Amino acid sequence: MAAAVQARIAELRRLIEKANHDYYDLAQPTVGDRDYDLWEQELLRLEAEHPEYATPDSPVRRVAGGTSEGFRKVTHEPPMQSLDKTHAKGELAEFDAFVRKTVQGFTYVVEPKIDGISLSLRYRGGKLVCAATRGNGTVGDDITANVRTIKTIPQLLPADAPQDLEVRGEAYMTREGFLALNARQAAAGLEEFANPRNACAGSLKQLDPRVTAERPLDVILYNAGGTGCDGFASHSEMIAAFRRWGFPVAPWSKAVKTLEEMYAAIDELQSLRHTFRFEIDGAVIKIDERRFYAPLGATAHGPRWARAYKYAPERAETVVEAITVQVGRTGILTPVAELRPTDLAGSTISRATLHNADQIVRQDIRIGDHVWLVKAGDVIPAIDSVIPEKRTGAEKPFVMPSACPVCGGAVARLEGEVAVRCVNPACPAQLQRRLEHFSSRNALDIKALGGKVADALVEKGLVADPLDLFTLDYAALAKLDVGEAGAPRKFGKNAENMRQAVEAARGATLERWLFAIGIPNVGVTVAKDIADAHARFSELADSAVLKDVIENDAKKGKERRILKIKVEAAKAVLAFFASDYGRSFAARMAALGLDPGRAARAAARTEGPLVGAGCVLTGSLSRPRPEYAKLIEQAGGIVQSAVTSRTRYLIAGANVGATKTDKARALGTEVIDEAKLKELLGLTDAVPPAGDAASAVQAPGGVLTQGELF
Ligand SMILES: [Zn+2]
Repeated sequence: MAAAVQARIAELRRLIEKANHDYYDLAQPTVGDRDYDLWEQELLRLEAEHPEYATPDSPVRRVAGGTSEGFRKVTHEPPMQSLDKTHAKGELAEFDAFVRKTVQGFTYVVEPKIDGISLSLRYRGGKLVCAATRGNGTVGDDITANVRTIKTIPQLLPADAPQDLEVRGEAYMTREGFLALNARQAAAGLEEFANPRNACAGSLKQLDPRVTAERPLDVILYNAGGTGCDGFASHSEMIAAFRRWGFPVAPWSKAVKTLEEMYAAIDELQSLRHTFRFEIDGAVIKIDERRFYAPLGATAHGPRWARAYKYAPERAETVVEAITVQVGRTGILTPVAELRPTDLAGSTISRATLHNADQIVRQDIRIGDHVWLVKAGDVIPAIDSVIPEKRTGAEKPFVMPSACPVCGGAVARLEGEVAVRCVNPACPAQLQRRLEHFSSRNALDIKALGGKVADALVEKGLVADPLDLFTLDYAALAKLDVGEAGAPRKFGKNAENMRQAVEAARGATLERWLFAIGIPNVGVTVAKDIADAHARFSELADSAVLKDVIENDAKKGKERRILKIKVEAAKAVLAFFASDYGRSFAARMAALGLDPGRAARAAARTEGPLVGAGCVLTGSLSRPRPEYAKLIEQAGGIVQSAVTSRTRYLIAGANVGATKTDKARALGTEVIDEAKLKELLGLTDAVPPAGDAASAVQAPGGVLTQGELF
């Protein structure tokens, strides 16, 4: 029985790993979403029922908690070198002549040059033990905890792979992911990332792996590291092996013999560059046969058997005809350049966001200017630079409006933000975008309510606040015309779908509701963390937990990470509920009988030896952490991820430093050891521990444990 369960778990993990690989790397999905979901659910269930078989590298558990203080340094042996780069094909001819003079009977391989962040992955005993950035080539940063959140990277190698192995490649952020991330940054009033590469670098250097886990990162491996790759006769054999072992590899490459074929391959790759889900900025040309590496040799800079060719940046000249201002969900005013339509990298561009007034001043963009247009990270049209020699003197500087262009209300620039906001909570432009956000997938998931419908509902005066959805006359809504002028379209039976979705939203979890409100700095992860620390919506307005976070920050400065909830988020939530709008929102929720509770995973029991006691597990324990968590919940306790003033017990396993326990005691928490916990749970030592302490991942600088936040 147990063996059958274990075998099924192993099989599900393999199926999911392979599906991830096929989908993300090969771009050839081999299973439907439904099958994938079913596997994932079955695996989650089996791991919950049999925590003794749960391991942190399981594909459904990649999102481990935990933070590290800065980054440990990793030495690269041999160093991670860079390639000589050229923009001129003439230099490739010189390269070719040098190669031909030195060796005979070789093949070139042309590959995409990915515009990402170089990475090294090390495996010991088949397990991923270290991931590091290139750094200066000799010493990089250890970003293992963050890289573990990238689902396409195998945590375990198949048996036929070298069990001690280092592979090298590039991490990148997908184009779509980059767009979505910038939309979130903008909504929070934060500076947007300039391109996917910057966004990728920023994501890998997060101190909190949970933030990285939310970022759509992926990798492509293309180089041997210091260990495990010596046996291959050719580069292409090595790449084929990488693919077999489950590593994402480049989706395109070409073997060529002559210089002319090399040029053709480089041009072909350039024509394909916009079809990849990652950015490329050129081509890499390598000698395929590895026996020629030694005779070709290396310079101090890099190998002489490979060369990078960089494509010229694509840009187009156009004219800024006007600068208009859009109003977003949180009231942020975004200036947008209205451009003379021009073709760039395969599409016609007529608008480009200018982000904020500072940006316009920095670039000195004026209305009427001739400008160079590029695609930021190949995706978003952006003004690269003004062409000053084309100025006639008739160009006009842009002035940020002093009133909201939609509602005419006051605007303000909040401290610490780059953005100017319309501060009128009844602003129709904000309301439309807020309504759209309220209904979005990670919020209340009301599918029938998209952007156009939100616009129509607000324009027709049917909805003046998202909560109006709960009192809307859906029979009347069915007759609403949501079409464009001249093309009427009745809302029809979508009204009934919407009514049902709104009804279902009454039962949505606290974290969804909290995200749906759209408080600045409260994204999906933050909403979940805050929801985990509260039983019900009605607790939020006067939350002791959130006040603790702020107080702790004020008192201890640097040590504010003692709580999982960030101080900015705590302040934003309390400020929301203290505002006039927040107060009326909360009162209306109560009047509608809405008081969402946190997700069932943390639901407390009403009886048992630990009833109502907040418990935090830390350090190495003799049983898997999920097993203890389950036992504590069965005993009526509440498993918390971090110590707050409401934590009764900190269960300190082995290797827990005095700083942690002292901090907990300062918050009034009792620190107990594992034996005491067993006593409280009524466990005797006659019960053998189930499985090894598999819930702890060995991480640099200590033991990385689920939900541990000190
Ligand atoms: Zn406004």
